[in-house]
Amino acid sequence: MVLQKPNSEKAMESKTEPRFGEELKSEIDFCNEYYLNLLGYKPEKTKLQIFQERQWNSFCERVGLEENSSGVYLPRNQTAFIKGENPLTLFHEYFGHGLFCERTQIGQRLVNLEKELLKEEQQEFDGKEFTLEDLKKFRKQNQTFFSLDNFRKENLTQYESFAFWTEYLLSEKLGADEKFGRRYDEFSSDDKQLVEGAINFSEQYGELATFHGFGFSCLKSETYIDERRYKLI
Ligand SMILES: [Zn+2]
Repeated sequence: MVLQKPNSEKAMESKTEPRFGEELKSEIDFCNEYYLNLLGYKPEKTKLQIFQERQWNSFCERVGLEENSSGVYLPRNQTAFIKGENPLTLFHEYFGHGLFCERTQIGQRLVNLEKELLKEEQQEFDGKEFTLEDLKKFRKQNQTFFSLDNFRKENLTQYESFAFWTEYLLSEKLGADEKFGRRYDEFSSDDKQLVEGAINFSEQYGELATFHGFGFSCLKSETYIDERRYKLI
């Protein structure tokens, strides 16, 4: 299960950058630059692990993830795990969920609850053999899990629509709109609705306002003040 610490993974891993794939590295650099310019920060605490295809299946099995998924972000260790060098998955998991969990109040609360639960699970299971069923049973009577589960459900729309919107936004910046278009066609109608809502908002009010709407603050305050002054004149 997910109790292992990320550095025990045998996959290719690094703190913030993949060790293989120059293509993904240049995309990460580009996106970091974009966030620094717009918001004054970029992902710092989010870790990234890129799996080769053959390692992905065993990882999915271990953490109870469906094998046809292309990535996952785990708030408990603030790590984005992705299958191969897939830019859209990188945008969704690393810059979407990752940055959200670093920089918004909802995301930070999610990380704290997950870390608290991880600590309690480690107290219960460390040094013991256990199955997924044992873990489920433990969680069922655990107050922290109960709070986390409720909090997750209450904020799921916000959490997912930000990640989908990030995919759209960064695809557009990097000229990968077609790739996003093909992926969009495969979305469920619920997901389509989520992403359309955010895209419409950003087209009407701009990118910065959309980040604000999702709960991000902008550290480049002079830009904001200038805009306000300009409007007053
Ligand atoms: Zn997601």
